[in-house]
Amino acid sequence: MTKVTEHIKQAKQTLFSFEILPPLKGESIQNIYDAIDPLMEFNPPFIEVTYHREEFIYKKFANGSLEKRATRKRPGTVGICAAIMHKYKIDAVPHIICGGFNKEETENALIDLNFLGIDNVLVLRGDAIKSEGTFVAEKDGHPFASELVKQVVNMNKAVYYDEELQNPSPSNFCIGVAGYPEKHFEAPNLKSDLKYLKMKVDLGAEYIVTQMFFNNDKFFEFVDLCRKEGIEVPIIPGLKPFSTKKQLTILPSIFHIDIPEALAEAVEKAKDNEAVKKIGIAWCVEQSKELMKRGVPILHYYTMSKSQAVREIASQLF
Ligand SMILES: Cc1cc2nc3c(=O)[nH]c(=O)nc-3n(C[C@H](O)[C@H](O)[C@H](O)COP(=O)(O)OP(=O)(O)OC[C@H]3O[C@@H](n4cnc5c(N)ncnc54)[C@H](O)[C@@H]3O)c2cc1C
Repeated sequence: MTKVTEHIKQAKQTLFSFEILPPLKGESIQNIYDAIDPLMEFNPPFIEVTYHREEFIYKKFANGSLEKRATRKRPGTVGICAAIMHKYKIDAVPHIICGGFNKEETENALIDLNFLGIDNVLVLRGDAIKSEGTFVAEKDGHPFASELVKQVVNMNKAVYYDEELQNPSPSNFCIGVAGYPEKHFEAPNLKSDLKYLKMKVDLGAEYIVTQMFFNNDKFFEFVDLCRKEGIEVPIIPGLKPFSTKKQLTILPSIFHIDIPEALAEAVEKAKDNEAVKKIGIAWCVEQSKELMKRGVPILHYYTMSKSQAVREIASQLF
């Protein structure tokens, strides 16, 4: 299959791509196909599939006792990637994370991806488990995405974590990483965050996908700062259409981003969520048009596996 960077090099205009979530455990993969099908006419060169680590829940018994259980609500990232490649004959980009994996487990997961012909990975640290508050790496796991980038790059050079192997084969992964136009929430300042973003790129990341943002100026400033820091790789903007009033508080609290005053006011005044969806689509179309005009390589949409709004946006642009 083709590397994301090759897709970008070969493109004559801005490309369209999107991210989906694996379905909740027990749900059918048809839900994913139903989300992807309406977006295929816009020719995405690849689809990204998120990875969700385990969470801890407490099960309550009749006698009142509680048992802590690990559960994964959305397993299936690798299977969905294989299914996408098989069904749609396009690339699937799995997200891989540090959280919940030690280095050997990561190596084994990368071997699976390599055998499936998956040549792209978006390398992330992952968030803290809710009950832990701050991110805690596994014993012999990676504390930062940069360390995981290093492991993938090593494997590309046939340097495996398992040192006992005789003549191991190199993998051929194209590595993407995350960037934050409004700063990662744990970073003390943007300068510090950019230092570590540059570290990921210097170690071998070949492109950056950004956190969602609603103010293009933040993206343009971020790109300028990256270039000043010597980060030369393609930077792909991540966009999400607003769809509910609740997102006015949820998105800033989960993703640590600002909602521009004009958008927030319009959403507050909207009479219901149908009206919010229209506002969200119109805002996202304007953002996309400006980003396209400025020559971004790809417009990447966070669909949350619901394609209707992104379809309406894409049909006005592609
Ligand atoms: C496009 C995109 C897709 C995502 N997909 C997923 C997903 O599928 N699954 C999921 O669980 N999460 C996902 N996330 C969320 C992501 O895992 C979190 O934002 C996480 O908190 C940080 O991940 P990172 O890869 O940016 O971490 P890192 O690059 O490791 O950075 C984390 C923090 O540590 C700092 N830092 C980095 N290196 C060092 C160092 N060496 N020393 C000190 N400080 C350092 C950084 O400045 C930053 O504040 C995604 C995020 C984005 C933007």
